[in-house]
Amino acid sequence: MKRIVLASGNAGKAREISQMLANHRIEVLPQSTFNVTEVEETGLTFVENALLKARNAAAHSGLPAIADDSGLEVDALNGAPGIYSARYAGSTASDSDNIAKLLAALADTAGDALGAQRTARFQCLMVYMEHADDPTPIICQGTWEGRILLEPRGTQGFGYDPVFFVKTHHCSAAELPPTVKNNLSHRGQALRQLLTALRARP
Ligand code: IMP
Repeated sequence: MKRIVLASGNAGKAREISQMLANHRIEVLPQSTFNVTEVEETGLTFVENALLKARNAAAHSGLPAIADDSGLEVDALNGAPGIYSARYAGSTASDSDNIAKLLAALADTAGDALGAQRTARFQCLMVYMEHADDPTPIICQGTWEGRILLEPRGTQGFGYDPVFFVKTHHCSAAELPPTVKNNLSHRGQALRQLLTALRARP
């Protein structure tokens, strides 16, 4: 069983990643197990921030690390909140604060109840570092297209899921069962690529 530290304090992400790795002989330990303090996300791109997080967790734990830097890009907002998705409504913002700010920012953007013309996507950059000085991290990316609803729907998931309309399933991401979200999501796509890359390593 391979032990890996997960460089995230986000409970929603950690739950999804652990669920998806459950059958892969990989034990995922949260970075809190090693008292890893969160690194400041000073990067200007998802990939820079993911590398910062993975390097920090590997350095403090002595274990290989997986980090996920992810966020929501909304076309009508020129890609905002993007890398600032977690702290869109401020450094201590809750998911509902962020959603309220997003819906207010889109108030003048034409859209029907199903978010037509409010196109958006989730991005996930996932990196794996064998150790803190790993010069060849594995870098994977997943993208999930959707639209921003006028009002939140559903209670599953986390973050912006209640306002992210999934056209293929005609519901919000927060109305999808977790296994279905994991099959479709930016995070699921990135993690499957990562597993393939890990299996290909000698
Ligand atoms: P990070 O921890 O800096 O990568 O911030 C990621 C933020 O993007 C989260 O706090 C959410 O606000 C948002 N986000 C990322 N992935 C998802 C998702 O699967 N559903 C809903 N929101 C997400």
